Amino acid sequence: MGGEVSFSAPTHNLNQAMSYENLPMHNLYIVPTPIGNLEDLTLRALRILREVALIAAEDTRTSRVLLDHYDIKTPLISYHEHNKLIRLKDIIETLQQGDVALISDAGTPGISDPGYELVQAAISMGINVIPLPGANAATTALVASGLPTDSYLYLGFPPRKTTQLRQYIEDLSIERRTMIFYESPNRLTKTLAVMLEILEDRPAVVARELTKLYEEILRGSLTELMQHFLETPPRGEITLLVAGYVEEGVPELWDEARVRAVLAGRLAQGEKRSAAVKAVAQESGWDRRTLYDMEL
Ligand code: SAM
Repeated sequence: MGGEVSFSAPTHNLNQAMSYENLPMHNLYIVPTPIGNLEDLTLRALRILREVALIAAEDTRTSRVLLDHYDIKTPLISYHEHNKLIRLKDIIETLQQGDVALISDAGTPGISDPGYELVQAAISMGINVIPLPGANAATTALVASGLPTDSYLYLGFPPRKTTQLRQYIEDLSIERRTMIFYESPNRLTKTLAVMLEILEDRPAVVARELTKLYEEILRGSLTELMQHFLETPPRGEITLLVAGYVEEGVPELWDEARVRAVLAGRLAQGEKRSAAVKAVAQESGWDRRTLYDMEL
């Protein structure tokens, strides 16, 4: 058996891998890091982060805090949204001499975080890509949401511009799977308002500051969440989940709470009262005069 080389990790890119067969094979580890609570790092992740030749991190200052906490001295290189293409070459070169771990600021790399291009490049070079399971805000929120978990759709951040956001939510209006979004606290009420207008009122969940000191999981209808966050502006990191479309029991007319919440949402976004009333009257079937007279 002397001199025989065997690779334990299988690759499905046989054609590409074969053309690089003379290159040394090292591993690119995809390592999730905590989304708040520093204890949420697996024993395997700790070992890999200690053993690799290099850690590619989204923000080296953020990751340094985590690595210092665990007394990990592995060299760091930055790999973020703005340098990810130019850094590919350096990382791939390092991978020809030793193993590299990819981490992001929090959670799983590649999930609304840099990682995809590096993984693609590594695969095309015949480098083993080894994923570690670990922290991820979407699935952490999902399993505690009380919404169906058998089938779900991860959607990341919704578009910021109103017209695009509206179209995007329109496109999801008959989606039957539980939908998971990431959202910033200052855009949450706008997103909820648009959802409430376009989707029928339905169950939704806001999971805030998961794994942290002020963790909060609010379950209710889109109307209730909208009302709550208009009164108590949201803070911290937010994952928003919305139940999928169900045909039965769709109400034909909007109830008063929904009308009030949508109207308040539009006004809170700075829309003129006349324009907001006109739009809500058209969508809800409510009389314009009644909407004008409504005390919000
Ligand atoms: N890669 C990460 C993951 O696996 O979850 C997500 C990165 S993305 C840039 C960051 C967004 O994830 C935040 O804006 C927020 O929407 C969500 N998020 C991250 N940490 C969270 C937490 N502790 N609680 C709730 N949502 C969180």
